[in-house]
Amino acid sequence: MIEKNLEEYKGIAIYAQQVDGKLSNIALELLGKARELANDLDDKTVTAVLIGENVGGLTDELAKYGADRVVVIDDPELKDYRTEPYTQALAGYINEFKPEIVLVGATAIGRDLGPRTSARVETGLTADCTVLEIGDFPLVAAPGTEQKHKQLLMTRPAFGGNTIATIACPDHRPQMATVRPGVMQKIAPIADAKAEVINWKPALEKNNCYVEIEKVVKEVSNVADIAEAKILVSGGRGVGSAENFKLLDDLAEVLHGTVSCSRAVVDNGWKPKELQVGQTGKTVRPHVYFAIGISGAIQHVAGMEESDIIIAINKDETAPIFDVADYGIVGDLNKIVPLLTDKIKTALASKNA
Ligand SMILES: Cc1cc2nc3c(=O)[nH]c(=O)nc-3n(C[C@H](O)[C@H](O)[C@H](O)COP(=O)(O)OP(=O)(O)OC[C@H]3O[C@@H](n4cnc5c(N)ncnc54)[C@H](O)[C@@H]3O)c2cc1C
Repeated sequence: MIEKNLEEYKGIAIYAQQVDGKLSNIALELLGKARELANDLDDKTVTAVLIGENVGGLTDELAKYGADRVVVIDDPELKDYRTEPYTQALAGYINEFKPEIVLVGATAIGRDLGPRTSARVETGLTADCTVLEIGDFPLVAAPGTEQKHKQLLMTRPAFGGNTIATIACPDHRPQMATVRPGVMQKIAPIADAKAEVINWKPALEKNNCYVEIEKVVKEVSNVADIAEAKILVSGGRGVGSAENFKLLDDLAEVLHGTVSCSRAVVDNGWKPKELQVGQTGKTVRPHVYFAIGISGAIQHVAGMEESDIIIAINKDETAPIFDVADYGIVGDLNKIVPLLTDKIKTALASKNA
């Protein structure tokens, strides 16, 4: 057991994920959220923990997106991500600097590093949070129980997405959470911002959990990243077949958008998993999201409800997707989508004439 004085834990830290010397977007998104949370804490310092080899050049970018302090852990052993040395580095940082909150991206790396680190420093972790706030816990003061203030309230779907749970970690520190890419927003960059930079080296112990990397094989994907798209034309089971997605491809083409889909479409083998939106797919936040032949199951909505404008096309006027849509068209997508594509094409042609 690590002896802890919870009062000593102060400020917010984020794990600043970098791969091949390039910061991952999630690092900047977590900084955006950390900045917002810090407003409600006594210690408002936001620290980015940067782990790798020769990564010192990334500190200014982290400052630009909201880091007050960057702790750089630079070591040849940390060149490529490996579970054990990275866990030792992050756990070492937590034990030395004692942050009150630690946020990690729910990326392939973060899903490996976050829980292992939380176990190492003997605290809890809430995975895949969709909302993070500072508040009282328990949420409602109950007679005879102490209500603690300024706790991290971590909200996430639970029980297969059938309910939303708010979880806190009042008796252990730090409070740890993972957040999926695309859920939080980065701040507008602050030009010329500088952070306090601390170069710190934990004692890395080469134990029997160290693995040796023999070769790194990079996956080559020619599928668009739907999390980056500004316009998404998303299809569901109602599209009917892989071939019928041609209707959505045509609409996406005139709008310079990208096609995405529901899980039913992936399960049917019509589209690859990388294009799936939702709780077990990607979280997206485009300017415009077309939901075509998608019923609006809670697990789908969890991945797209933050879109700026949602346009639903469905033949069933009672489909739940209309509850989250800004605009709804009730009817057969096989008629509506080609009409819409033609109208937009004509409108764009006359605008450019
Ligand atoms: C743990 C868990 C995780 C999950 N994760 C995800 C996830 O990440 N993403 C996800 O999408 N789902 C997820 N699901 C599945 C989810 O519950 C739904 O089953 C799924 O979203 C349904 O997909 P759909 O809307 O395409 O199909 P359906 O629910 O079958 O809806 C098809 C819709 O098309 C409409 N339609 C049919 N024909 C036409 C037509 N000609 N014109 C217009 N409209 C038409 C119908 O009225 C209907 O509303 C998850 C489920 C579980 C239990």
